[in-house]
Amino acid sequence: MWTSTFLQTLDRVLSLQGLTDLFSVPMPSHVSRSPIAGFQAPAARARVRPWLWALPLVLALLLLGGVAAWLQVSDQRDLEERQRTLLGDALSLEQQLRKEIDFERERLSEIARQADTGRWTPARLAADADVSAGLRRRWVSLTWLDARGQVLLQVPDGAASTPERRGMTYHLSAPMNGGGSLLARYALQPLLTQQTPWWINRRYAVRMVDEFDETLAIAADATRARDGRVHRISFDPPVPGVWLELAEREAFVPWYRALPLPLLGAVLALLVWATALLARQVRHVERAQTAWRDEAAWRRAMEDSLSVGLRVRDAEGRLLHVNPRFVELTGYSETELLGKAPPMPYWHPEEMDEAWTRHHRNLAGHAPRAGYEARWRTQAGRDLWVMILEAPLIDAAGVQIGWMGSVVDITERKQAEELERRRNERLADQARLMTVGEIASSLAHELNQPLAAIASYNAGLQNALASLPGVPPRLREALQRQAEQAQHAGRIVQRIRAFLGRRAPQHEACDLVAITDSALALLRHDLRRHRVRLDVSHAATALPVHADPVLIEQVIINLLRNAADAQTEAISTPGAAAQTACLWVRTELADGQARVQVRDAGPGLGGRTLDELTAPFFSTKASGMGLGLAISRSIIEAHRGRLQAQDAAEGGACFSFSLPCADTAQAADAPHASTALQSTALHE
Ligand code: ADP
Repeated sequence: MWTSTFLQTLDRVLSLQGLTDLFSVPMPSHVSRSPIAGFQAPAARARVRPWLWALPLVLALLLLGGVAAWLQVSDQRDLEERQRTLLGDALSLEQQLRKEIDFERERLSEIARQADTGRWTPARLAADADVSAGLRRRWVSLTWLDARGQVLLQVPDGAASTPERRGMTYHLSAPMNGGGSLLARYALQPLLTQQTPWWINRRYAVRMVDEFDETLAIAADATRARDGRVHRISFDPPVPGVWLELAEREAFVPWYRALPLPLLGAVLALLVWATALLARQVRHVERAQTAWRDEAAWRRAMEDSLSVGLRVRDAEGRLLHVNPRFVELTGYSETELLGKAPPMPYWHPEEMDEAWTRHHRNLAGHAPRAGYEARWRTQAGRDLWVMILEAPLIDAAGVQIGWMGSVVDITERKQAEELERRRNERLADQARLMTVGEIASSLAHELNQPLAAIASYNAGLQNALASLPGVPPRLREALQRQAEQAQHAGRIVQRIRAFLGRRAPQHEACDLVAITDSALALLRHDLRRHRVRLDVSHAATALPVHADPVLIEQVIINLLRNAADAQTEAISTPGAAAQTACLWVRTELADGQARVQVRDAGPGLGGRTLDELTAPFFSTKASGMGLGLAISRSIIEAHRGRLQAQDAAEGGACFSFSLPCADTAQAADAPHASTALQSTALHE
């Protein structure tokens, strides 16, 4: 049985799977196992137990040892059993023989008791039924001795004795009534032959020996085993100096002699051969495992160092594997992603239909070879633009089992493209503005003359009418109004010309704090008139920028004017409590950028975005041109800065712009720009 168990074990361990199972420590539960064997994480090093190849041999040898020990114990028991049987048989035979001799002695005593000594003759003695029965049984002779030991009678005489009754004889004696005694001679041989049962004869060579080991009688043949057990029992009395001996005919064969040695040798040789085979196989497996671990570790290291996200999907699009970069890109953990079927959590909620279309197209194998772009949504809610390249995933048998996708983050490129697009739009707007500016400028120029003519004709007319009597006062008043309107129109034309008058930017090192102060100084009088209070908070140090101070000042003035307008509008709204408007102006250094912030307590942006507010000609004011913010944004972006607008937490709107800070050393040398500032077109 143990050989079949061993062969089964051998059969199992010779298969690679069996070897892996037998010699490998099971993977810890925390280690992730990808459904694709090739992508199994190498983190947990499944170590081969190198000594295990010897285990079957050791077990088989132990089993052999156990069987040998069991056989030894069993032999011991058999030996003891045989010994007990031998003793029992010897005792039983001895008892049998003794009983026979006792019987003969009794018979002899009976004859002696009943003997009629006066009438006994040899013939009568021989004819006596008891005597002849005794002689028939086993007596060799019966002798009558007188009190002095002289033979009186003897039956039969020596010649009558049968051959088997010859040999060593012994006698029994019984005293007679009238004196003298009877002696019955008997031979041991017939006693032994007759009384030894056949089954004892078959098992043992039974004989009677004297003290010199001379055979006196043998029950059957004397064949005995050379190493057989022998047991002797003294048969004295009744027969002096005689031993009954039983010797085993068949010697006990110990188990190790009974087993066929070649078979044992063959099994052992098979064992050793199988173990050698196993050891070789284990070495192969160990080498293969080491190679696999190295390869897996390299692959994992390569995957980890990739800046490209990798995802492996099965034929249904279920995620089988993702690399750390993919996890980093999407923000979803590996456990959240693995096994996930579409719709994927990172699909953009606004583009679900497109994502499904792309998915079906890709699984059908029609993904563009050059890759395609997609917009995803990270777990943190950020938009992520990716370029995806799909390739078929082929297994070792050459069968396509899914798709391998390489994912590259192109968000920055997309943002740059978007910025570029906006810039272009703004450039187009600017171009449009310039055209409008040109037209407006030439219009203003053209209108200047007729307006001046209207004004001078009006002045002449008024002068002429002044010397005439009876001119209706209503006419004078109308002329006066006409003159005023002409002046007003002239002023508007002037303003337009000044505002749209093109001026090449002149960049220089200047201080944004000083520019802000200059803008405030220009507007202070106006603001006071409109009862607008100012709350100014400046950065502790100068804010050095490399900019055109005149243009920047125009931007600040525009923001201040808008804020003031919004404030005044809020105050003049019916139902608003009488209050003084307040503007908060703040200059600061934020994230390496020089920033100016203008906040008001007006109605706020009303949900409008910066793009809407800065659209050319957008205005909510009755007399607004809707160009101020558009031009301000152009100026700021032309300075590589950024204009921002948002509703203030305290209420009202908050407009701000930031410009890149110039080199501090440069800034330190910068003159306080306020002295260099000029009055602006926005300021009348
Ligand atoms: P205009 O002042 O001629 O209307 P702008 O381009 O300066 O042109 O402003 C465009 C519009 O932006 C304004 O009409 C107004 O609706 C909105 N706006 C600008 N500044 C503010 C502000 N501080 N609060 C609320 N709305 C503002």
